[in-house]
Amino acid sequence: MDSFWGYLAPLIIIIGITILHLLLPARWLKGYINRPGSEEKSIYRLNGLLVLAFSVAIWFSLCNYGNLSYNWLYLHRWEGLAGAFFTGLIFTALVVFRYKPVRKNLLADIFLGRAENIKLLNGRVDAKMWLYMVGAVMLELNVLSFAAHHNMTFGPEASAGVLTATLLITWFVTEYMFFERVHLYTYDIFAERVGFKLGWGCLVFYPFFYTIPLWSTVHLPDPGLSSFYYILPVIIFFTGWGLARGANMQKYHFKRDPNKRFLWIKPESITDGKNTLLANGFWGKSRHINYLGEILMASGIVLATGYPDIIWPWLYPLYYILLLFTREWDDDRRCAAKYGELWSEYKKRVKYRIIPFVY
Ligand code: NDP
Repeated sequence: MDSFWGYLAPLIIIIGITILHLLLPARWLKGYINRPGSEEKSIYRLNGLLVLAFSVAIWFSLCNYGNLSYNWLYLHRWEGLAGAFFTGLIFTALVVFRYKPVRKNLLADIFLGRAENIKLLNGRVDAKMWLYMVGAVMLELNVLSFAAHHNMTFGPEASAGVLTATLLITWFVTEYMFFERVHLYTYDIFAERVGFKLGWGCLVFYPFFYTIPLWSTVHLPDPGLSSFYYILPVIIFFTGWGLARGANMQKYHFKRDPNKRFLWIKPESITDGKNTLLANGFWGKSRHINYLGEILMASGIVLATGYPDIIWPWLYPLYYILLLFTREWDDDRRCAAKYGELWSEYKKRVKYRIIPFVY
């Protein structure tokens, strides 16, 4: 019977998160892209941080006062993954087949999606922002449950590595929610459609695959490393965070007000009279230093587990390398088409794609 609930858990959690999203207070914010067929900016209703806080609080209450054990999601992780897998497929079918084909190839339509920006309930729910929020909250619940399993198994002998990796992933999720509005300015919002990649990606891949550093190590005992060992992964993680968040925020401020400083950085830009590109600060070191930041963060989390010799956790940064290096090529094509000569000038000025002085 417990297994049955394990399969259903993702669906129940998704419904719970959606109810919280609808009921909790939210901010209405202007986005980056225009409303379809209009010159006005698209409007979004966002409350991800509050939804995350309430979801975690409800989860703790259920464990503390109810019948749930803190490691329930860990114990039923395979059923949860299967349930989420199936839910993700149904979501994809619903979100793709409701809309008219945009490509000749049906499989490409299913994978990449048809509709660009789907809004429901008078704009109260934006499909993309809802997907990211649901994925992030499910990831955090999984992570907390996985860490609880480790503590329940090893008690006072629990590893500082699991604690460190859990805190780093929690930081990753929480700061994403804190800066949720900044993600209205990202590639997924302006360049992607809602299909299997985004839908299944956020409902299944994000909440389960991103746990892989913990999934593959929480059943193991403390590796017995000195406390000094954990300083390095934390430094790597926060260096990556500084690069990714710094680049995102610099661009976000620049798009909203091209003259506004970000931290100590006064924006320098290049222009062809029609378009303008940032050419200093984070955007002067490489053309996508934020992607390097993400890869460093993922590597920091893997090292933090205390088991750098186990191969499975490394799939997480490896996935980022595959995702972000290919995305950079794609974005380069997109920007070359959009900005023309100005993009070539930017590429002459900022030579490196992702890793300064290397690539
Ligand atoms: P970017 O934030 O790098 O956005 C690229 C876009 O920014 C371009 O298409 C262009 O859009 C604009 N742009 C590029 N160069 C300049 C410039 N010099 N000056 C001004 N505008 C410029 O990439 P993403 O949207 O892909 O990623 C956003 C964040 O999300 C990143 O930090 C990324 O690492 C993170 N991310 C995280 C993932 C995760 O799972 N953790 C997965 C994927 C991404 P335009 O022409 O419209 O201005």
